[in-house]
Amino acid sequence: MMFNTHTFPLLLTAALILAGCGNSNGQSRSKSTSTMDTTSQYDHSNNPYYSHSDTAKLSVPTSEWKKLLPDELYYIAFEKGTERPFTGKFWDFEGIGTYACAVCGNVLFQADAKFSSSCGWPSFFKTDRKDALQYHMDRTHGMIRTEVTCGRCDAHLGHVFDDGPKPTGQRYCINSVSLEYLPGK
Ligand SMILES: [Zn+2]
Repeated sequence: MMFNTHTFPLLLTAALILAGCGNSNGQSRSKSTSTMDTTSQYDHSNNPYYSHSDTAKLSVPTSEWKKLLPDELYYIAFEKGTERPFTGKFWDFEGIGTYACAVCGNVLFQADAKFSSSCGWPSFFKTDRKDALQYHMDRTHGMIRTEVTCGRCDAHLGHVFDDGPKPTGQRYCINSVSLEYLPGK
């Protein structure tokens, strides 16, 4: 059997995904009944601003966030980084629950607004509430896009495009690194 240059990386990726499927309780990973090994990507115990109920706007200097956040999260959130597609924790995750800002805990999206997108980042067609996000014109990388940041802490989350599914037609394309998944509800 011949592998061409397109199929080989796909097979390699599939092999790596299969190799990474096992978890400690012996359950096999299934897209329809996925459960997370842990409910949190990060330890928020040292972050005094982290809350799923407080929606008051924060004004925290980035120098303080740098001390509080893991490097990877700080880079995406405050240096406007982008994780590589198809690498994040949530791009193909289908758990029932809520997604919050990983920096401050602000509730951003419900899982029932998440849809399968081929872009390689978690994609949602609507926000949890009107003020969950803020919108900014982004002219970087030779494109005109709409950047979305957290409505509470101003962390960069991703971008929103108008090629999403009905009923909104919007596609919020968000870095997995920037999200915390809260199971249930
Ligand atoms: Zn936030």
